[in-house]
Amino acid sequence: MKEIVYDKTRKIIHIDMDAFFAAVEQRDFPELRGKPVVIGGKPNSRGVVSTCSYEARKYGIHSAMPSAFAYRLCPSAIFVRPRFEAYKQASEEVMKIFYEYTDKVEQVSIDEAYLDVTENKFNMKSASIIAEEIRKKIKERTGLTASAGVSYNKFLAKIGSEMNKPDGLTIIRPRDAKDVLENLPIRKFHGIGKKTEEKMKAINVFFGRDLKKISMNEMIERFGKVGYFYYNIVRGKDERIVGKSGKRHSIASESTFAEDIDDVDYMLRYLRRIATKLGDNIQKRKLIAKTVSIKIKYGDFKQITRSYTSPFPINSEKDIYDISKKLLINSLEKDRKIRLLGISISNIINKEKEVYQLILPFYEEWNPYKNMLEETYFIDN
Ligand SMILES: [Mg+2]
Repeated sequence: MKEIVYDKTRKIIHIDMDAFFAAVEQRDFPELRGKPVVIGGKPNSRGVVSTCSYEARKYGIHSAMPSAFAYRLCPSAIFVRPRFEAYKQASEEVMKIFYEYTDKVEQVSIDEAYLDVTENKFNMKSASIIAEEIRKKIKERTGLTASAGVSYNKFLAKIGSEMNKPDGLTIIRPRDAKDVLENLPIRKFHGIGKKTEEKMKAINVFFGRDLKKISMNEMIERFGKVGYFYYNIVRGKDERIVGKSGKRHSIASESTFAEDIDDVDYMLRYLRRIATKLGDNIQKRKLIAKTVSIKIKYGDFKQITRSYTSPFPINSEKDIYDISKKLLINSLEKDRKIRLLGISISNIINKEKEVYQLILPFYEEWNPYKNMLEETYFIDN
């Protein structure tokens, strides 16, 4: 296997808004400030928590938790329906600030982005000063706080932004990287999901330093292709570039049903409904997708996602429906009811700007996060 020759001179910043949706609500409604606020489904519904304020996190509430559980943990929490328009507007203001410094901005989700400021519009030498300026501008212009990580690659920058949340800045210099990574608990390795974490713990891998003891061959044997990624990141090697600007990673739509269902016709009718919605959405934006995924959550909360990447561009509701139908039929287990169903389309490109990409042979960009639950932008909630 080819060893990656890596560069420690890049200056990468990862910026992540703090409890974004909840922070916007607390900004706009002063009566919510200082209180446990939960954005998402109502406590008496079967919906889930989308984001919650730091005050709510103290009670153990976190995203993706059923709202009913959240209510049990903290009956005094204030449950708020999401206002996506307000979040989108705040997000746009934040993204604009990034472009004042560089065009190498990769928006990962509505409240998170990587910036490559190795070269920047002000010829500033210090990425930390840029990160501080950006955080200050975000505060001034939106009234919201963000956390930032600064390092020489994306992985470390991301680890950094999580280390001093909220309203924090972490700089991981090349000389600090080894220590930080060796002492990092496995679950904090972005890209290592719950399942892999369990697998690693079973072979006594709890921290980066344990992971480092595993040879490249063993890593690949145990974890497949992604093992190569783990082998490198634990050594501070991550050559992924900060991608093109404005790329939406995915558009998703999902719902938790009022009760668990096993009626396949009902599921298909629902799939058709959201496939139409998603198809309309990307057609309006002149986008094309390559991947369709479905998400199924069973009555016992076990969740699976199944994806199909097409060699042909996907942009019609019919394609989206046909693929998701096939994925659903192949994944359904007999006598097992489901509580949630959703479709997500990803690998999205702009039809007008990137037509040439469609003519070139498709290559599957290796994405270490493919098997993770993607961050989705809900349009059906
Ligand atoms: Mg965030």
